[in-house]
Amino acid sequence: MKDLSRHSKPLKVIPLGGVGAFGMNMMLFEYGHDIVLVDVGLMFPDPDLLGVDIVIPDFTYLRNPTKQLLGVFLTHGHMDHIGAVPYLLREMNAPIYGTTMTLGFLADRLKAHRQDLFSEIQTDASAEDRLPVIPTVQLVPIQPGVPITLGPFSIEAIPVTHSIVESVAYAITTPVGCLIHTGDFKIDPTPVRGAGFDPTRFIEHGRLGVLALFSDSTNSERAGHCASERSVGETFGRLFSEIEGRIFVATFASNLHRIDQIAQSAAQCGRKLFMTGKGLTDAIRIGREAGYSAIPTEQALPLHALSHTSDREVVVMTTGSQGEPTSALSKMAIGDHKEIHLKEGDTVILSARVIPGNEADVTKMINHLLRRGVRVVQEKEVHASGHAHRDEQKQMIEWVNPRYFIPVHGDYRQLLAHAEVAAQTGLSSDRIRVIENGDTLLLTPDACQSGKPVPAERILIDGRDRLEVSTLSDRRYLSSEGILVVTVDIYKVKLCAGPFFVSRGFVQDDPDLPLWKALRTVIERLFETMESELGQDAAPPPSEEIEKQIRGALKKWISKKLRRYPLILPNVRRVDRP
Ligand SMILES: [Zn+2]
Ligand SMILES: [Zn+2]
Repeated sequence: MKDLSRHSKPLKVIPLGGVGAFGMNMMLFEYGHDIVLVDVGLMFPDPDLLGVDIVIPDFTYLRNPTKQLLGVFLTHGHMDHIGAVPYLLREMNAPIYGTTMTLGFLADRLKAHRQDLFSEIQTDASAEDRLPVIPTVQLVPIQPGVPITLGPFSIEAIPVTHSIVESVAYAITTPVGCLIHTGDFKIDPTPVRGAGFDPTRFIEHGRLGVLALFSDSTNSERAGHCASERSVGETFGRLFSEIEGRIFVATFASNLHRIDQIAQSAAQCGRKLFMTGKGLTDAIRIGREAGYSAIPTEQALPLHALSHTSDREVVVMTTGSQGEPTSALSKMAIGDHKEIHLKEGDTVILSARVIPGNEADVTKMINHLLRRGVRVVQEKEVHASGHAHRDEQKQMIEWVNPRYFIPVHGDYRQLLAHAEVAAQTGLSSDRIRVIENGDTLLLTPDACQSGKPVPAERILIDGRDRLEVSTLSDRRYLSSEGILVVTVDIYKVKLCAGPFFVSRGFVQDDPDLPLWKALRTVIERLFETMESELGQDAAPPPSEEIEKQIRGALKKWISKKLRRYPLILPNVRRVDRP
């Protein structure tokens, strides 16, 4: 046993994402200059982040050359836990640890990013064949119960139940004590795939002494215990036999438990299974590669067989539970799906929670479905959450019995509600620490103090690269006010041609609008004044000065007469003769 005396250095714990705001989970553990990370996830943008594709954590702290990243430990394959790994790998390399299934989902992400990541091997014709075993990226499968030692850390995976198979928590033994990070979890005694939740390792670590517990706060505002994944199967069974017409079920592609149950219920109720949506086929392939047997693709019929199957015998599994505009279900809803045409008498079952931020898209899609005479079922019983409710959260704290408790994975109110749960287990308030992204905790065997905060901004990604906040402000401004481009040709200070106006999002481009005449007059007056003040043959002021005057004159007139504030872009062209 290592000496845990008070002389040991403190361990730094820094959440770079996922704590105080939903999504992009990333937790950093540092001892000396050695660092391990738990999860490197992404966040899907709010609609006000115009044109932003995804949001990733800030890696500034890791760029310090004195720090050494020893490894990244992934809890499970959801995008809010693995989605930003390719962006991290663009900048620094470190082995990535996870279960086979989690690494399967990551390998798919890496393949999508391979050009950005591995441009140096792009020219190599055989590179294509070598993927996803990319020589420079080490994906290391972990076995629960077999700890991995990296520098001062020893890290053990503990299986947990969640809405994606092969999810794990991590017990991280460090020179200052043992820390447990639950990842996302629920306590499900009867998941569909894999064993039921086994608390043994949590209890054993708890007995030996756990310095700090970091636990999933997502459902800390929900009382009791969340439903078992298996209970959803019973509802499917009932609905599949009751409903007369064709049935379409939308769910998260990565939830193999749910996919199994839809397939089983279809078979039991004498219905044939069909599938549409790339996400589903990808997830099933990853499952099969990870060694999961009897995945229902074999059972699924090709879509063209739909036309000669009676309505009473159809179940179609589809992606699109979040109303994503490019998903199979959204395409069906607007009549844009190549092979499936919805009709009156069809039923769509939405078997997923609506993720915050997607409500508007889902509502829009449901309206389109209803317009086609489709019945939409969105009952509570067709979905079971993947995250522990309050009683399960309490249970976890009691098993682990940590010295310090730190709620993670949740926005601020969820963290506070989870802190309240911890207090109910008898933890005193000095042992509960609510922190947010960028905060630093300094842990020693007998204390937990706050350190200096570190940069933890949201990094916006548009296309392949970072979008600066100033560009986003320009987009917001343009989207609310529009743009007016004005071009003039001048000789010395004399207006020779123009002004020519082009506008977008400001007013109609109709050249007959009286507005253009008025604006032309504003510019003509401006030049008349300039000419009379400076004299016809004066040396002309610099173009920037003239542009500034044009902008000022137009802005003044437009704001006064129209109460509008478009972005005005003057363009001065100098000509050689009048
Ligand atoms: Zn998850
Ligand atoms: Zn999550």
